[in-house]
Amino acid sequence: MSVISQNLQVVRDNISQCAQKTGRSAQDVQLLAVTKTWGVQEVLAAARAGQRAFGENYEQEAIAKIEALKAQAEFEMEWHFIGPIQSNKTRSIAQNFDWVHTIDRLRIAQRLSDQRPASLPPLNICLQINISHEENKSGVLPVDAMALAKDVMALPNIKLRGLMAIPKEEIDPNTQREAFHAMRNLYDEMRSHGIEMDTLSMGMSGDMEAAIAEGASIVRVGSAIFGYRE
Ligand SMILES: *Cc1c(COP(=O)(O)O)cnc(C)c1O
Repeated sequence: MSVISQNLQVVRDNISQCAQKTGRSAQDVQLLAVTKTWGVQEVLAAARAGQRAFGENYEQEAIAKIEALKAQAEFEMEWHFIGPIQSNKTRSIAQNFDWVHTIDRLRIAQRLSDQRPASLPPLNICLQINISHEENKSGVLPVDAMALAKDVMALPNIKLRGLMAIPKEEIDPNTQREAFHAMRNLYDEMRSHGIEMDTLSMGMSGDMEAAIAEGASIVRVGSAIFGYRE
């Protein structure tokens, strides 16, 4: 067994245990394997171990991998864009990804909708929330999320699926839970006001337990699977 497949098993077991501890089912928490900085071989090792959903942060790096893996056509893979988006990258992202987790302004959402090829299903998107109210950080502030969601829902070729956050880094699990709890409250509140969503994308290698306890439905995990990045 490769190190990557062993790590994947550890992460999957951890997800199941965390889910069960809080009365949830393991199937309710999807694992997104974050492959930024890693190569085609590492992605393939994870795919051979059964992983299907992959997250990438940088458009150019991602496209090279997606193209190389398509040529092998060995597995059905689902690609999630989880990095900051510049306007000049939206066309490529709209053409090559299944999900985008990092929508924090309408203009980018409009471009993705306009540029989504008609041959593909609508692009799944999450609104990125600046849940820790950090200055100079990506994400829409919680008070502005409702208005952005309504605007995004009106666009034809993208489908609003949920909310995403990268909270301020904290070591203490109880402190980690506060930001995830705030995300959960925002998600519930928006849904109670008629915003249809089924996804809470939150939790990474260092805080996935806290995120699952607060209701994460996608955890985005890199280093716990592939090792430390340079
Ligand atoms: C890199 C990254 C991750 C994964 O982080 P790890 O700490 O390696 O698990 C998750 N989400 C986003 C948005 C990232 O950029």
